[in-house]
Amino acid sequence: MSLPDLPNPRPGPAPGHVYLVGAGPGDPELLTLRGARLVAGADAIVYDNLVSPAIVDLAPASAERHYVGKKAADHTLPQDDINQLLVRLAQAGKRVVRLKGGDPFIFGRGGEEMEVLVAAGITVEVVPGVTAAAGIAAYAGIPLTHRDHARSVVFTTGFLKDGALDLDWPMLARRGQTLVIYMGISRLPDICRELVAHGLPADTPAGVVERGTTPAQRVAVGTLANLPQVVADEGIRPPALTIVGDVVGLYPRLAWFAPDSAPVAHPPHAGCTVVHRGDDQE
Ligand code: SAH
Repeated sequence: MSLPDLPNPRPGPAPGHVYLVGAGPGDPELLTLRGARLVAGADAIVYDNLVSPAIVDLAPASAERHYVGKKAADHTLPQDDINQLLVRLAQAGKRVVRLKGGDPFIFGRGGEEMEVLVAAGITVEVVPGVTAAAGIAAYAGIPLTHRDHARSVVFTTGFLKDGALDLDWPMLARRGQTLVIYMGISRLPDICRELVAHGLPADTPAGVVERGTTPAQRVAVGTLANLPQVVADEGIRPPALTIVGDVVGLYPRLAWFAPDSAPVAHPPHAGCTVVHRGDDQE
């Protein structure tokens, strides 16, 4: 792949270094130029299940490919083993690209991996990626901030290590704020209940986006009161991102993304419905 000639491009990957590269939320076109340059020069690629195969395919045919994808219930490779794999590949003098879905430093354990690498004396570069919240909100037509609706935005996780949902609910349930919940789909009924119990109106708009930015993107919108039911009825499955706040009410007017990439002037369904776009690939 040839990349645009930018002034003073930084060099490609160096032997023995590890590059923690954010691959973006799904659409391979959302990879950064820096990320593409590093993947194209890699000797070894270590990647997760949320990384688009088209991005892995940018690596040279000769590059080693290590799939270390994880799903909540089905750990392909424990985190310690991933850390050790990265250290081993770097110490063998490879140009190592660690590709992670979205941004490496947002719910991506990039920090944990980097701590181990730095402690082992390995040089690391971090390349940001379009995090799921930004990419999916954009493709779903849900502006995360808006002067009339939300002056702050909070990213949180709905999946905690020990299974408890011990979050700062009073902070999360503030009005005039958009809340984005990563990994929370299996706890959605609890999350919606807690938000209402801590002060958000039950009719606060809320939505879930499955496989955002991909041809299989599906958007389910409703309110805190009915979203869990809508999501259950439609069989929405991970990876899915939950967005809560008045900005979700803009979705019917601003939705533009369709699988054939042609913007839709008027979304086929509006309001508290599910919009199906493309085949469910899972
Ligand atoms: N580092 C990643 C997040 C990893 S946590 C980032 O910055 O985006 C994984 C969670 O991200 C998933 O459980 C889901 O909540 C969200 N996610 C990632 N990609 C997604 C996608 N294409 N569609 C919907 N949710 C997605």
